[in-house]
Amino acid sequence: MKYCKRVTARVHLDAIRQNISNICRGIPQNTKVCAVVKADGYGHGATAIAQALDDTVDFFAVATVSEAVDLRAGAVKKPILILGYAWPEDYEELIEKDVRFTVFKEKDAKELSELGERMGKKALIHIKVDTGMNRIGFPVDDEAVETVRRIRTLPGVEVEGIFTHFARADEEDKTYAYEQLRLFQDFIRRVEKDADRIPIHHCANSAASMEMPEAFMDMVRLGIAMYGLYPSDEVSHEIELTPALELKSQVVYVKDVEMGEGISYNHTRILTEDKKVATIPVGYGDGYPRLLSNCGYVLIRGKKAPILGRICMDQMMVDVTGIPGVEEGDEVTLIGRDGDACIQVEDLSELCGIFNYEFVCGLERRIPRIYV
Ligand code: PLP
Repeated sequence: MKYCKRVTARVHLDAIRQNISNICRGIPQNTKVCAVVKADGYGHGATAIAQALDDTVDFFAVATVSEAVDLRAGAVKKPILILGYAWPEDYEELIEKDVRFTVFKEKDAKELSELGERMGKKALIHIKVDTGMNRIGFPVDDEAVETVRRIRTLPGVEVEGIFTHFARADEEDKTYAYEQLRLFQDFIRRVEKDADRIPIHHCANSAASMEMPEAFMDMVRLGIAMYGLYPSDEVSHEIELTPALELKSQVVYVKDVEMGEGISYNHTRILTEDKKVATIPVGYGDGYPRLLSNCGYVLIRGKKAPILGRICMDQMMVDVTGIPGVEEGDEVTLIGRDGDACIQVEDLSELCGIFNYEFVCGLERRIPRIYV
């Protein structure tokens, strides 16, 4: 994708590789790494990232059928697991493309098996176990143990993996996460009793991959940390992560505005002194949160320029009074570094109360991503 003057997200692939390597330093070499690239790679661009990591990681995880199909269309070769639900009308295409299914209902496993037999190709499935998220997954009871044991005997499916997901691994107190781990291990033990081992047991998200060695099992699923963001404030920042995404724009207009004038819709900001105001061609239509109106800031010439008034759909105004020489064409940093100054996603997400995961996922597709 070409550099766009209006706004560009620069994604540093080396930072992503380095983040994975930093996390993996604490993980045994034979533990597989699954790169979670759902929601378009947390807003960073799933296909480009998966292509760049195809030789580095062992697995990719997405949330939806179309995300899996897009990766295969982008010639991504490694196994892809859909973490969410897939509807039967998509089964054939997904089996054809070797995409792994998350299964948490026996009827879906049966349907996959029948189709797998008809196609002469087994459907590869990962059993989802609900140990405390109460989202999707088999409960950890005796009936579910029997169900999973039956699923393993179906002729048209191969149970390649079994997994669960932590609800509270990003908290300092890991008591609940360890209880989930215990329930998961116990469930697996009962499912595998007098039967073959399921090849891939997995449960660790970023937080657990950084702080719960007992949860590494056969594979870790790295999402947010791979992109250089910490899962929460409570997760130790000892493992160094570098944010992979920078958001850059340009000043398109600079003018003097007199004291008493209002800026942007509804004049939520009335100037109490004369100001130099720069217009930036980025707005909430790009996924830049309108909640940052009157409280966010950008960097120009290495200095903070506070946002004045409401952020519009495609533009916003910033105060450059204190920054000498600002002119049209100056680079604007919305996220990232400018000289010694830096804006982290967390700086902005804390200001407006938006979760850091949501902030990056929300950056709209109309922002071109370039990979550097
Ligand atoms: N595994 C599952 C099932 C998920 O839903 C997610 C993300 O929501 C992840 C792994 C990755 O989590 P994180 O981004 O916290 O590493």
